[in-house]
Amino acid sequence: MNDITTGMPAGSGNRALHDSLRRNVRDLCGRFPDTYWRELETRRAYPDEFVRTLTSAGYLASLIPQEYGGAGLGITEAAIILEEINRSGATAAACHAQMYIMGTLLRHGSEKQKQAYLPAIARGDLRLQAFGVTEPTTGSDTTQVKTRAVRSGDRYLVNGQKVFISRAEHSDLLLLLVRTTPVEQVRQRGDGLSLLLVNLRDSIGRGLTIRPIRTMMNHATTELFIQDLEVPVENLVGEEGRGFRYLLDGLNAERILIAAECVGDGRWFIDRSSRYAVDRVVFGRPIGQNQGVQFPIAAAHIKIEAADLMRVRAAELFDANRPCGAEANMAKYLAAEASWEAANVAVQTFGGYAFAEEYDVERKFRETRLYQVAPVSTNLILSYVAERVLGLPRSY
Ligand SMILES: Cc1cc2nc3c(=O)[nH]c(=O)nc-3n(C[C@H](O)[C@H](O)[C@H](O)COP(=O)(O)OP(=O)(O)OC[C@H]3O[C@@H](n4cnc5c(N)ncnc54)[C@H](O)[C@@H]3O)c2cc1C
Repeated sequence: MNDITTGMPAGSGNRALHDSLRRNVRDLCGRFPDTYWRELETRRAYPDEFVRTLTSAGYLASLIPQEYGGAGLGITEAAIILEEINRSGATAAACHAQMYIMGTLLRHGSEKQKQAYLPAIARGDLRLQAFGVTEPTTGSDTTQVKTRAVRSGDRYLVNGQKVFISRAEHSDLLLLLVRTTPVEQVRQRGDGLSLLLVNLRDSIGRGLTIRPIRTMMNHATTELFIQDLEVPVENLVGEEGRGFRYLLDGLNAERILIAAECVGDGRWFIDRSSRYAVDRVVFGRPIGQNQGVQFPIAAAHIKIEAADLMRVRAAELFDANRPCGAEANMAKYLAAEASWEAANVAVQTFGGYAFAEEYDVERKFRETRLYQVAPVSTNLILSYVAERVLGLPRSY
């Protein structure tokens, strides 16, 4: 694995490190042009070569501390990496989860688990890309998760179902949210849930069935059917019953990283729209000379830049170990809205050509739409800000 820091210290003030990260990620992504992503989509295939290249260059281990073989960087740097991936026209959704799942293992895993998994993940020998939270009958209401794990000696016996679990077919490990205490017996909503690290290679066909779900983009998401799956007790992360709290601990990182991807998407749309508006000549002049075309591009750009400031602020607070729930949620909200606006502006700017696959606008348009729904829907962010930040009465 390469030293992605080239010896420079991490931190939001380190401009030289950030510029070098941006340049290097851009160079790497340049080896995977639009045609690569388009071709994968026609086959509904996973970008294996891209993920392998990012991994061996060390980018997906940026948050793993150096003592476990990673780069030991902060969320600020991880966010820059994901932003540049999306800005290049690629999609970080193929591999971003490793960055935020890792935090749960780092913060709450035992030393034995960290030694067992983190160096292998950093080397690229293991992939921790799948996170199993969502269920068909509980949706956004995560505290009501029903997938049940019952302890029997040195094993948990797990039964249940998960939906929209991305990359499960392309990961070695799955972090699975399960109920270890029946909901009627818990004192507080959120108690009684636990996180298990499931070895997918050992589990498929032995209690775990994975069924792909075709979506409007090439996302490798799946449904999991779990029947009498045995998971060793030593794979419990942290304490039994505290899984929901561990999940909440990781949400700020997830929000910031997804916000960065949206900023990357937004910048891609603005770059492409601006270029096209200069090149495309209709009525004897570039379409971008018309204010009806240039103003929406300018307005979308302003919103992307504003969202970026909030994301940078959230990342600075996160890396300084200061509270950042409000900023992380607001950054995700602003960035997802701004990237969607930029996507719509790109469609309008490209006219009919936006709908032609070879311009890639329609692909990125479909990809960026997800971020107002997953990993968390916009309504739940508004609810967080209304109730937790502004003190309005709780709605659920
Ligand atoms: C492509 C894709 C990949 C995904 N990958 C993963 C993954 O890897 N792992 C994983 O665990 N999950 C994953 N998800 C699931 C995703 O996190 C959920 O779809 C999302 O959290 C919403 O849950 P739901 O779809 O059940 O919607 P629901 O909970 O049914 O909500 C439907 C709508 O109602 C709104 N709503 C619900 N309750 C309220 C309320 N009280 N107030 C206001 N509005 C409300 C929601 O905001 C939403 O707009 C993925 C989803 C997709 C589409």
